[in-house]
Amino acid sequence: MTETDLREAVARELPGVIDDLTRLVAIRSISAMPDHDADVRASAEAVAQLLREASCPDVQILSADGGKPAVVGRYPAPEGKPTVTLYAHHDVQPMGDEELWTSDPFTVSERDGRLYARGVADDKAGVAVHLAVLRAFGGKPPVGVTVFVEGEEESGSPTMGAFLDEHADLVRADAFVICDSANWTVGSPAFTTTLRGLADVVVEVRTLDHALHSGQYGGVVPDAVTTLCKLLGTLWDDDGSVAVEGLTVDDVADLDYPEDRLREETGLLDGVGFIGRGSLVERMWAQPTITVIGLDATPVARASNTLAPSARAKVSMRLAPGQDADAALAALKKHLSEHAPFGAQVSFGEEGAAGGTNVPFEGAVTDAAFAALSESFGTEPVFIGQGGSIPLAADLRARFPEMDLLVTGVVDPDTRMHGIDESLSVADFEKAILGEALWISKLAERP
Ligand SMILES: [Zn+2]
Repeated sequence: MTETDLREAVARELPGVIDDLTRLVAIRSISAMPDHDADVRASAEAVAQLLREASCPDVQILSADGGKPAVVGRYPAPEGKPTVTLYAHHDVQPMGDEELWTSDPFTVSERDGRLYARGVADDKAGVAVHLAVLRAFGGKPPVGVTVFVEGEEESGSPTMGAFLDEHADLVRADAFVICDSANWTVGSPAFTTTLRGLADVVVEVRTLDHALHSGQYGGVVPDAVTTLCKLLGTLWDDDGSVAVEGLTVDDVADLDYPEDRLREETGLLDGVGFIGRGSLVERMWAQPTITVIGLDATPVARASNTLAPSARAKVSMRLAPGQDADAALAALKKHLSEHAPFGAQVSFGEEGAAGGTNVPFEGAVTDAAFAALSESFGTEPVFIGQGGSIPLAADLRARFPEMDLLVTGVVDPDTRMHGIDESLSVADFEKAILGEALWISKLAERP
């Protein structure tokens, strides 16, 4: 198909694909909430049915032991042509406080060129991009295509390793596209070339063997909550950069992230400053960061004049793309043990660690993708990092080092993924579909 044919085909398929995206969004496939297991199953079945309707000859719903259902659809490669795997995920984040949404989170609503709903971008739009491309080719893509749609990404992909152990041959390809990342801005496409890692641990501080009257003994023995706060305070330097020894920093693309844009995107309040040091993209993509994401202490409503004997916090780190995640977790625990104020007892509970990755962008397959997105968006893609993590990328790099990996997406700075009023730019959605279709047709033309 020529570029003009593909443009017309994508424009023709767009309304139908948006209708199907709307139906997928209505299924509350929240993988982190066991109450929604049946929805996650229904969502997988809906994706499988859409693939069958797009003439996919081999559609399976698969899961590793204890895992959520993934969908794998395979179009065999025409003689002499390569195979690509197109990945997205059909599960979504919880909707948060439903009252805060401008429109119902599971009913797509269009306002000013954007579609609003939970999962309409992250990542049911990824599913819809792949589906639209297959429809644009009339269900007969000119290369082999495997569509791989995961069902547990938003709960941390707990069984992805086991799934890949069992089904490596199904998803292995010449090139693998993860359509679950971001563009640089609306109208400006991007390839993600670095992803940070993630590690977290629950830390408990104990200072007393029972609670005490704060008037009687306050001032001579430490309470656990204040002691925990002092300990957590040692994780940051005065400027908010991390103060834990053993965490590494990577190099990052030299890209100017305007301060105004970041203020606007984050809703930083008047008078509140940025934290950390180095360029903004270094801080977001290449340096480690530490955040206290949960605290167990007496709630304010039940507060009494008491010295608490114990308190807990969940501490989460984002890691430089090249950092060994287990080493980083060990460094954090060492720091917490060694900085305990007043000799307080420190112990650790549940923990997790997953490395980040660098995604090399070189060779004919990635060059074709660069050209394809340049044509569909009318401007050259930007190479970006992501402060977030896609553990699948690191896993694929380790298992299939020879496979070309492309990390793309339809999210933009206004998307608010995981947040209230998540949204998708319809114009960029169409450009992303055309870009993927053009890339596939370029791969088919290669000798
Ligand atoms: Zn996602």
